Amino acid sequence: MEDVVIAGAGPNGLMLACELALAGIRPLVLERLPEPTTENRANGLVGQVVRLLDRRGLHERLAGPIGPPAPAFVFGAMRLDLTLAEHNSLHILGVPQREVAAMLTERAGELGVEIRRGHALTGLAQGTDAVTIDVEGPDGGYRLDARYLVGADGGRSVTRKLSGIGFPGVTEDRTLSCTAHATVPADLVDPMTGELRVAGHVIPPFFHYRTETGLFVHAPFPTGNLVTTMEWTDDEIDEDRPMTLEEMAESIRRVLGTDLPIGPPEGDGPHLLRRLRGRNTRLADHFRAGRVLLVGDAAHVHSAIGGPGLNLGLQDAVGLGWKLAAELHGWAPPGLLDTYERERRPVAERVVMHTQAQAALITPGGDVTALRELFGELLRQPSTVQHIADLMSGADVRYEAATGHPLDGRWAPDLVLADGTRLAELTRTARPLLLDFTASLGEELRGWTDRVDLVEGKADGDATALLVRPDGYVAWASSSSEPDETERKALRAALERWFGTPLDV
Ligand SMILES: Cc1cc2nc3c(=O)[nH]c(=O)nc-3n(C[C@H](O)[C@H](O)[C@H](O)COP(=O)(O)OP(=O)(O)OC[C@H]3O[C@@H](n4cnc5c(N)ncnc54)[C@H](O)[C@@H]3O)c2cc1C
Repeated sequence: MEDVVIAGAGPNGLMLACELALAGIRPLVLERLPEPTTENRANGLVGQVVRLLDRRGLHERLAGPIGPPAPAFVFGAMRLDLTLAEHNSLHILGVPQREVAAMLTERAGELGVEIRRGHALTGLAQGTDAVTIDVEGPDGGYRLDARYLVGADGGRSVTRKLSGIGFPGVTEDRTLSCTAHATVPADLVDPMTGELRVAGHVIPPFFHYRTETGLFVHAPFPTGNLVTTMEWTDDEIDEDRPMTLEEMAESIRRVLGTDLPIGPPEGDGPHLLRRLRGRNTRLADHFRAGRVLLVGDAAHVHSAIGGPGLNLGLQDAVGLGWKLAAELHGWAPPGLLDTYERERRPVAERVVMHTQAQAALITPGGDVTALRELFGELLRQPSTVQHIADLMSGADVRYEAATGHPLDGRWAPDLVLADGTRLAELTRTARPLLLDFTASLGEELRGWTDRVDLVEGKADGDATALLVRPDGYVAWASSSSEPDETERKALRAALERWFGTPLDV
């Protein structure tokens, strides 16, 4: 009997596999495709997920040490000047999804995870103690039993469908998005700013540029220059007709009202030439049905605007991993696994909300232009920029908090200890941590030392002690130099609430 079978070796299934392995559970990953996909999806990661990768030592593998937050971003094709925000925590990591998946595959391998490529989940039946899974592999069909099955099998999740979880939402079919790797004439690009200047349009790089007929983006990635358009149309499109550079150029002409002479891409590729019709916004009714759980796109799909997909999905995986492992190790307090849906579904709801709001802000039309003018005025106010930045990064997420401490339920701040050690270096084992800068709380941890690590020392900031869950969220915090009995009691309650009954010591 397998402990956990994960259907899907996309980024979210792989991240979950790594998290489970760190927590001492070896999952089996089934992946339908025989080889890693070359499909070009995400061009980058946006938000807390960048800090999350740092906290697992994975940022370094992709791009070296983590840098400062971004000075600017876009919301609904409007510039977000992040220098206006008092606490800017919006990080961006411009790494293609393929590289993220390749890095996670390598990491999973190091942690001893088995990935069976060319093996698709085709059926499932839930029993009291196990899920029976039908698999179609290169040598035919076979059956597996697992204590838990996680569907990380993308937006069309077979796992979700077979487990009877509804996926309500909307399919919007008027949008037409074209994307291509293509060169643009060098004399149209400002060498200092990277702005594309054509027929009166001044289009910053990576910026969503809205006109009255659509949206245009030129993104000079190190892997090649990408041009993208979005239009709204009722026209029938022959989706089987292969996309061409000419079609891309025609779409750009309609959006910008002028010709932009694009040419074939440089370099070896793989090069993107893609037409996407329509957009799905859907959220699973439940993220859990008995012994079946969903993560990532299997649980939610939405517009890719602003790049929130992997911020959401990879944090689903990290939110679920330790709880599932605790269940399998036998120390999970009652109801721990149900907190996965309770915590992550509202976060997904917020992403659905802001991607739909952005989709509304980019549509053509005079009324939308007026709305944008008003929104533009609001975006000059620091508090609005802060609000939107926190929404997009996920810094506004607050899980269940049992105390009134402002950090309780929040993502733990990026602390640096007096000896220079960063919290992000202490969290690489994915173990729960009690950070105690009062040198007085070790005694409280007595019954949990098998599950929770104690870190003593000193650090700047208001907090004098923090109980940090493996997913980076704070389960309890203090700002007292000598926490009193009420705070200690709350600490013991938090330890029991998240990490189970204390050992009899
Ligand atoms: C055009 C586009 C641009 C995007 N840009 C961004 C961006 O810039 N930033 C960002 O963060 N996000 C972006 N996203 C979203 C991001 O790509 C997704 O959120 C991400 O791929 C979800 O990962 P996942 O692991 O949940 O699912 P997937 O990546 O879909 O992986 C699912 C895996 O499951 C496998 N599978 C399916 N069925 C089965 C089965 N029955 N048995 C076994 N295996 C199965 C599939 O082969 C696949 O490998 C973009 C998406 C699109 C479409």
